[in-house]
Amino acid sequence: MITARKRFGQNFLRDERVIDRIVRSIAPKPGERLVEIGPGRGAMTFQLMRENPQLTAIEIDRDLVSLLREQGPQHGELTIIDADVLTVDFTSLRGAGERLRVVGNLPYNISTPVLFHLLDHQEAIGDMHFMLQREVVERMVAPPGDKIYGRLSVALQAQCEVKRLFKVAPGSFWPVPKVDSAIVKLTPRHNAERMRLAAPLDRILRAAFGQRRKTLSNALDGVASHDQLQAVGIAPSARAETISVERFLALAAVIDIEN
Ligand code: SAM
Repeated sequence: MITARKRFGQNFLRDERVIDRIVRSIAPKPGERLVEIGPGRGAMTFQLMRENPQLTAIEIDRDLVSLLREQGPQHGELTIIDADVLTVDFTSLRGAGERLRVVGNLPYNISTPVLFHLLDHQEAIGDMHFMLQREVVERMVAPPGDKIYGRLSVALQAQCEVKRLFKVAPGSFWPVPKVDSAIVKLTPRHNAERMRLAAPLDRILRAAFGQRRKTLSNALDGVASHDQLQAVGIAPSARAETISVERFLALAAVIDIEN
């Protein structure tokens, strides 16, 4: 019997046209190193393997792992990592080889932690294509000044080019989710200076967006001083959602050197 486990965020893709469109957007080529997060029952997996028969998939649900182990060999060389994606070391997975192309219809309940985990391993990743809750994709691409611009927008845009590709309607899945979905592409910049600033930037973003109603100088108390804000051209009375990614990076560079 087919079941869907809510605790694993399972909504299986069932619309062949949508699957085809996603695979065409990814455009995998033979020899590339594809890694799929949450292959589920293989809806995208087996289509991707038609283009590139070698694929590594990370799946937490043991029942689905058994199913994939049974069906995988009919489609090519499917390597399954039977684990929680948040524990997978993508840097080791890449090893000395080509960068990974990471794809997945992500479990929506852990999509933000997954994105931050992948950011920590961006050096190992060439690009990423994900299906996410549409509202999360809107936050990922939001520009400064938008009320949904926040920690996720700045942290991702600082390290990656983030592009929203297309919407996917709830009826494309089983069970039918309550929310709209969208496909997003992330291309890590591999900018050494920005990668080095990831930790101080994160400290700033947690403080700045943790207390959105405060002015920046109050929200950043203990993280960045009034003078440091002014040194990078940020008015202490400004609000976090008005500050560009570049300004946040400049502030991260100042606190990294001075603190
Ligand atoms: N790719 C399939 C599809 O499109 O039909 C399934 C997508 S479903 C939204 C999310 C998948 O991620 C499920 O197979 C689920 O079991 C798996 N999953 C959930 N949490 C996970 C985790 N922490 N690590 C790895 N896989 C996980």
